[in-house]
Amino acid sequence: MRSDDPRLSPIELDGQRLLLPSGPGWETLRRDGRLDGLPLGAGRRLETYLAIADRSPELRVALGRPAGEGEARQPWILCHLAPCAAGWRRVRVRSQTCFGCGWVGVTGTARDYAIYEGSPDPLAALAAGEALPTLPCPDCGAALPEPPIWAQTVRQPTP
Ligand SMILES: [Zn+2]
Repeated sequence: MRSDDPRLSPIELDGQRLLLPSGPGWETLRRDGRLDGLPLGAGRRLETYLAIADRSPELRVALGRPAGEGEARQPWILCHLAPCAAGWRRVRVRSQTCFGCGWVGVTGTARDYAIYEGSPDPLAALAAGEALPTLPCPDCGAALPEPPIWAQTVRQPTP
């Protein structure tokens, strides 16, 4: 598949062009394993990223190019995007438990330098991510151990 395929919606985020494949787009990408002749992430990273997104309907996997010269033959960069008030944002996904009530969920933080790989100014992108409003526990309102910008409930607290 080529990166100008209409099944890959381009978006601009943190000064970087990212491709947001549709469901049929991913079917073809998974079968081909390449885009513009280049691998999708290193090793088994793609399957890990897609497996996480498959469990959270709101999460998407996007593809970006590394920044800088000499990176032209490097694999595509993978990132998770979550919908926020400000639109799609890059997140690092993890599961969290609320110490206040026992709520268990999948959350996304924007406060991780690594997720801005490929952005022309990752430090500025990180600063913008750190300035985003964070969410408390959706059940009891307590602060979660790692303040997320996106959260999805996996298990409500048992009364
Ligand atoms: Zn709670």
